[in-house]
Amino acid sequence: MPGPEVTAFLNALNETEHLAPERMLAYQRRLLARLLPHAARETGFYRDRLSPVLRNDGTFDWERWNEIPILMRSDLQDSFDQLVARNLPKSAGGVNEDVSSGSTGSAVRHLNADLQNFATACCNERFFAWHGIDPGALYARIRITDHPDAVWPNGRRLEGWRIAYDRSVAIDLSTMATMDQQIEWLERIRPRYLMTYPSILRTIASEMAGRQKPLRFDAVLSFGEMLTEDARRTIEDGLGVHPLDRYGTGEVGHISAVCPQHLKHHISSELVLVEIVDEQGQEVPAGTEGRVIVTPFYSLAMPLIRYDIGDYAVLSGEPCSCGRSLPVFERILGRSRNVFRSADGRRIWPAILSSEIGRHLPNRQFQIVQLDFDHVEIRYVPMPGEQTSNVAGLTAYVRERLQSEVKLSVQPVDAIERSAGGKYEDFKSMLD
Ligand SMILES: [Zn+2]
Repeated sequence: MPGPEVTAFLNALNETEHLAPERMLAYQRRLLARLLPHAARETGFYRDRLSPVLRNDGTFDWERWNEIPILMRSDLQDSFDQLVARNLPKSAGGVNEDVSSGSTGSAVRHLNADLQNFATACCNERFFAWHGIDPGALYARIRITDHPDAVWPNGRRLEGWRIAYDRSVAIDLSTMATMDQQIEWLERIRPRYLMTYPSILRTIASEMAGRQKPLRFDAVLSFGEMLTEDARRTIEDGLGVHPLDRYGTGEVGHISAVCPQHLKHHISSELVLVEIVDEQGQEVPAGTEGRVIVTPFYSLAMPLIRYDIGDYAVLSGEPCSCGRSLPVFERILGRSRNVFRSADGRRIWPAILSSEIGRHLPNRQFQIVQLDFDHVEIRYVPMPGEQTSNVAGLTAYVRERLQSEVKLSVQPVDAIERSAGGKYEDFKSMLD
């Protein structure tokens, strides 16, 4: 049985997902009214930074919210000690230290209070409920973990991994296992659900393509990397199900998760304020691409106020047809280092299909790297045996996708390296 706090929070989430926007704003301001004075009082970093909003008489000037400077990832690295709260309210619980990889290549150390992890677990639980994920079924998770038990051939068994179900069972396998080992393990333990990174789901899906008896799951759940359109299609083709995607980071917690009706992400506004801003930090209208700035309301141990997580996204201007009033991401575009930039300043999020690359350049895996404004390189792991490649066809395809007359070179490699965070990137820019 879940504790009363879990039941209460989940019941509240069932109601708040239908709150009208002005009532949600009032709900969020109540949480900010706790976080902001706490941050100003208990950290050196925020003592003066929040003054546009914190009036001397203890009231708030919300109109001046966007005068609060944006917190950068580099601030977390440079000012860790100043960001840590000296004291915590009792309700925040204990504090855990962790390192979040992100995918900008630079890890950040951060502190999370139990309360923040609890709120994230409850929002995950709501997401499972939206999609009817059976708590009684076996759930396999392939993820980056250094737990000594999470290794092939058995993996690490966890009971009660879902906050609302003490007897829910998951088995964790570290990504240190080879792809052949991962598939063998899945065939042996036969989970009904698989949760892992889009790059791993995509590789498993590709491996299943020619099989007589492909692996089948009731659902696959993706997290931790951008789910590109290409990956989504490959997963659907190979595994026969839509990946159910979630968005969040270690230091922020849960941010958004796909709606059961249209597979766009709903933002969990009860946990986090999301703003989309331009390069000057000004809010952009719905439908316009911008930087994702987040304020997680329960980040009491290490307050993150107007934090730039390094991703780009577009908000939808339309309410969702499912009836939930939580705002919707039209698209989550990903990291600035995953964008192609042309010399005349255009930014293009490459929508490059692996099937098209494979048609011209047979490969086990590839990565496209922008070396300069007019030069991209395709690094690829060749298929075994003699293969014919068509560099002219490939060049035409890549130029069309990037809308730019780039020079293209191809470079066979033994392996595609993961980024510092252990993630794969289809497209990477070496500019700046
Ligand atoms: Zn919806």
